[in-house]
Amino acid sequence: MHKAALLQQKSRIVRYSKRFRVKPGHKVKLADIDPDFHSTHEDEAAAKGEIVTNQEKLRALQYRMYAENKRSLLVCLQAMDAGGKDGTVQHVMAGMNPQGCRVQAFKTPSAEEAAHDFLWRVHKAVGPKGTVTVFNRSHYEDVLVVRVHKLVPKKVWSRRYDYINDFEKELTDSGTHILKFFLHISKEEQLIRFKERLNDPTKQWKISESDYLEREFWDDYMKAYEDALRECSTDAAPWFIIPSNHKWFRNLAVSQILVEHLEALKMEFPKPTVDLKRIRREYHRAEKEEHKRR
Ligand code: ATP
Ligand code: MG
Repeated sequence: MHKAALLQQKSRIVRYSKRFRVKPGHKVKLADIDPDFHSTHEDEAAAKGEIVTNQEKLRALQYRMYAENKRSLLVCLQAMDAGGKDGTVQHVMAGMNPQGCRVQAFKTPSAEEAAHDFLWRVHKAVGPKGTVTVFNRSHYEDVLVVRVHKLVPKKVWSRRYDYINDFEKELTDSGTHILKFFLHISKEEQLIRFKERLNDPTKQWKISESDYLEREFWDDYMKAYEDALRECSTDAAPWFIIPSNHKWFRNLAVSQILVEHLEALKMEFPKPTVDLKRIRREYHRAEKEEHKRR
């Protein structure tokens, strides 16, 4: 492509990491954020090229992270039921080398988990250097569902924002890059997705007994999310609010933000630990012998 055209195309790309990032301490009003937003892209077909490019870049960046083995990435996904966490996991990880990544879902704590502090099960699920970990739900449930259903007193959950920030700071200081995404759907969109689940035999297994009960607490959840996003979006571990009624736009925005952050790390392949000149000589010797043998 011509240089001027390339530059023009580049300037048209909206940087979602800036646009959707929650500024530390900033008040969040979810009702003011349009879950239908899809930026300058008319539809999925128009965004396809960018989505595919992001996916290819992600694949190469994860390969580099695994080879470099110096730091790790932790992606936290939170959303209301049917908000698209599973779809996002699939999209982000498609093509990544399974050897360097894993997904961890957080459900209602087991008896053993519940007998520990709330971060116990979370800390040990964070992957080692060189890996990508995706949390499908996370430690934030302990200031969301726990708060909405009054599973612990306010005195207990309200202190957790500080504990979470300290925990995440310790992780980032140790080389774990944390990016957190709230997949923002509307209440109407949730019902549309519930209907799809009900009518599609391949999706019925996803229906949970609690789906409609939780829906009744929608406003309480929005309030709990607004507080968590404000209290726990830090420079070290930012939150992003992703308009997610359009699945394709959600995938585009999340993957673009991941690519942008991973590229900024300027990861390097490790220098070979062997003497390449000597190895090359050995290779040529072996090659000659192979020719003779034939
Ligand atoms: P989907 O979005 O497809 O419905 P899901 O993530 O909701 O998937 P489920 O098995 O339906 O998966 O639900 C897991 C449940 O576990 C959620 O209702 C969530 O609120 C709950 N949960 C997760 N962590 C905690 C926690 N710390 N305390 C209490 N409940 C929790
Ligand atoms: Mg569910």
